[in-house]
Amino acid sequence: MADCLGSKFHVDEKRLNEVLDKARAFALTKGICMQSEQQGQNGTMLAQHFPFTLFPSVVPRTCFQEAVDCMLDFNTLIHKVAHDHNFLENSLKNVLEVDEFTQGLWKIYTQVREEGYTQPLSLGLFRNDFMIDALDPDHIQIKQVEINTIAAGASSLGSLLVLLHRFTLDMIGKYYDKEEVLNNNASLGTAWGLLKAWGLYRRKRAVILFVVRETESNIFDQRHLEFKVFSLNPGVRVLRRTYLDIYNGASLTEDKRLLVDGDEVAVVYLRAGYAPDDFPTHKEWDARLKLERSLAVKCPSIQYHLAGLKKIQQELTLPGSVEQFIKDPAAVRRIRATFVKQYSLDLGPEGDKGVELGRNDPHMYVLKPQREGGGHNLYGNDIRTFLERHHNSKERNAYTLMERIFPKANKNYLVTPGTPFALSDVISEIGIYGVFIGSANEVKINMQCGHMLRTKLLGTDESGLRTGHACLDTPFLVN
Ligand code: ADP
Ligand code: MG
Repeated sequence: MADCLGSKFHVDEKRLNEVLDKARAFALTKGICMQSEQQGQNGTMLAQHFPFTLFPSVVPRTCFQEAVDCMLDFNTLIHKVAHDHNFLENSLKNVLEVDEFTQGLWKIYTQVREEGYTQPLSLGLFRNDFMIDALDPDHIQIKQVEINTIAAGASSLGSLLVLLHRFTLDMIGKYYDKEEVLNNNASLGTAWGLLKAWGLYRRKRAVILFVVRETESNIFDQRHLEFKVFSLNPGVRVLRRTYLDIYNGASLTEDKRLLVDGDEVAVVYLRAGYAPDDFPTHKEWDARLKLERSLAVKCPSIQYHLAGLKKIQQELTLPGSVEQFIKDPAAVRRIRATFVKQYSLDLGPEGDKGVELGRNDPHMYVLKPQREGGGHNLYGNDIRTFLERHHNSKERNAYTLMERIFPKANKNYLVTPGTPFALSDVISEIGIYGVFIGSANEVKINMQCGHMLRTKLLGTDESGLRTGHACLDTPFLVN
């Protein structure tokens, strides 16, 4: 018997195993895949299916809609923050005293700002992540976990997973309609955003450059996006290069056009460069700077990248911050309604308050460094240990303290290596995708496109898909 999806329905074990078997085959057939750690003969790539839930997970429609409804507001907010030098500098100055990675980004930002931005437009392919807080079960609310401004993945795989989930629901005879298991146009919107930016560059033969890691397990999500771009406009080529390739093979013309092995680049799309590991030597940093100085439209530009740092998100929760950028009171309300409290940990009296909160009640908070990509946050007793160890050190400046969100558990089956295939208590995180193109003075595109859900065992702290903490999922909307 399965009692996921809010209502009970009977599926015996034999049938369930049949559904599992077909779902796995379906995932492989549709390319809901990742690269396997093992290699085939002669180093060929082997694929395995991406971790997924067997069925969609229940999400209250009102909460989902609230997450969707504030996406255009958040797009605008991030864009404006990114163009406000004083806000960036004041927010990040204490982090910059201690965090080498942020210093590297800031150095690039400073150089291009002083030289004058070659390309006034930025492309944002954002993903705003939320959980539904159910600490007070009578008053559940959608709360923001973070907004991603760089390498926000899973738009392609998430779009395909809807097909798999409709298939598994059909197999067990669970009725649903399209308003419950929505079409997901995240992949289409993302590809469209890349092409729109390409069009604004106005060079028919120019290419789109995906900047990728040398080794990347999540390669199918990227490839689906590349092929989606191709299907929308077969005249636009996508190149894939690492930072090292760019260091060795890319150059800037006198008028700052970016050439990669002879091809002019219209759009640079970063799927790497959000973690210190991406910059082992000065060569990768030099390559990042070269991209930023070019005329190509960057996704994200360095200022968009900075605007997505965790420290900025903490500063935005302070009174007056959002209001500084967004004048429409209804939009401010929509944004602020999703915030939980966040605290600075900067060395000094203000930060001491955050330190005290974290030490006294670590299970009510998450401690976050300026990192992306999963696996960096601290939880529970590790927060106390960290804060006690760094009580008198500036190391604290690089972290922020965020109130913990407590989502209500659902039931589902996780189909992922290392997790028993059993009906389990799980919690989910919703991502909403946004596309934004604009310059300091002009907004060209502001739209919302599609969503993703990821689900993990109750009691797991992290939710990284790439890091294997969570499974890809689809919302089953209920009233
Ligand atoms: P990253 O950039 O590494 O993805 P996140 O801020 O998204 O950093 O945190 C990683 C994961 O930690 C999230 O996906 C979520 O599962 C969990 N998490 C982060 N913040 C909170 C929070 N305030 N409450 C509960 N869980 C959180
Ligand atoms: Mg995240």
